[in-house]
Amino acid sequence: MKEIILIKDGELALKGLNRNTFEDILIKNMRTRISPLGDFSFRKSQSTITVEPHSENIDLDEAVARIGKVFGIVGISRAAVCEKEIGKIRETAWNYLQDELLFAKTFKVTAKRSDKNFPYKSPEICDEVGGYILSQNHRLKVDVHNPDVVVTVEVRDNAAYIHGSQLPGAGGMPSGTGGRACLLISGGIDSPVAGYMIAKRGVKLTAVHFASPPYTSELAEMKVHELLERVSAYAGRVNLFTVHFTELQEAIRDHCPEEMFTVTMRRVMMKVASKIALWQACDALVTGESLGQVASQTIHALKCTDVCAGLPVFRPCIGMDKNEIIEISRKIDAFDISIRPYEDCCTVFTPRHPRTRPTPAYAAEVEAMLPDEDAMIQRAVDSAKLMIIEAYPEK
Ligand code: ATP
Ligand code: MG
Repeated sequence: MKEIILIKDGELALKGLNRNTFEDILIKNMRTRISPLGDFSFRKSQSTITVEPHSENIDLDEAVARIGKVFGIVGISRAAVCEKEIGKIRETAWNYLQDELLFAKTFKVTAKRSDKNFPYKSPEICDEVGGYILSQNHRLKVDVHNPDVVVTVEVRDNAAYIHGSQLPGAGGMPSGTGGRACLLISGGIDSPVAGYMIAKRGVKLTAVHFASPPYTSELAEMKVHELLERVSAYAGRVNLFTVHFTELQEAIRDHCPEEMFTVTMRRVMMKVASKIALWQACDALVTGESLGQVASQTIHALKCTDVCAGLPVFRPCIGMDKNEIIEISRKIDAFDISIRPYEDCCTVFTPRHPRTRPTPAYAAEVEAMLPDEDAMIQRAVDSAKLMIIEAYPEK
């Protein structure tokens, strides 16, 4: 049986005249994700995009799974394509949705007839198809208000499409409609979630990771690659820059008061990341900070780090509890990777008693204790190694 995928786009409907541009970007993003699986054609009509595989050997389960992670989509339906003849439509509806209908107690049929030459009107299509399904499974009942299964028949110009319940899409805005931001990614739980949340608003991601070998291991870096791959399944291609941070971290350890280690490190990270972000044409920085989660994330500490950023800093987790962040982390399959126990540079020289109410003036005074800070920052920027992370590489 020939199948296609029907896509309902989401907030795009709000975009008025820009809608076409947004839909074109959405189609381009879907094409990038599924074209490694085979050839597909994409067609727009009303608020639906039809995705048609060119051969029956294509793995449609995988195509649907990948499309389920493309932002800008509210609903996805897999549909059977059928000749526009009422007998064929009745039989196809039953054959195609049998598995769903056998386990259901109630169902209803909805019909849309955009081909006005089709001799049956929508209510008549519903009666025909509904009656046939009831004749095949006597235990089923029709429930128009709260059915277990909705059977939809769409009679279009070229064919009839039949589908069951719609799967939820990833929501948000298509990647590439909201500019580019630079994610500071550690190997923890919060920053991958922050990246996912900003990407959901249509923003492309560049990422910066600070590694401090030999204090941090290669396994910690691999963890970051894997985490970004999970984010990339939603966000598309991510450019990751890994920065050699050891020199700066040792300088902070050797020259600054211990209670200010974390804040100073965070300020320096902001400076290095801002330089890379500007060079990569990013318009904002993104971190996984959440207010009050740890001593370095008090409102006072964040004030001290913000003044060092050359760009706006987005912190999508700022008002979330840890369990709310974990819920998203699990949803994007990142959690099990995040909890692997490798040292991050933040945990290397953790102060025993961090200052929770630092002032920007005092933080600047402490930072000024670093000898030749500008040169060290430049060396860190120059050390950045690029790696392209892509969950579904193009053919
Ligand atoms: P996460 O779970 O994201 O590691 P966290 O609660 O452990 O967050 P911190 O370790 O204090 O918090 O880090 C706060 C934020 O600083 C992180 O969310 C991340 O954006 C950034 N950050 C921390 N360590 C690094 C690193 N090694 N490289 C890049 N960014 C980092
Ligand atoms: Mg961390």
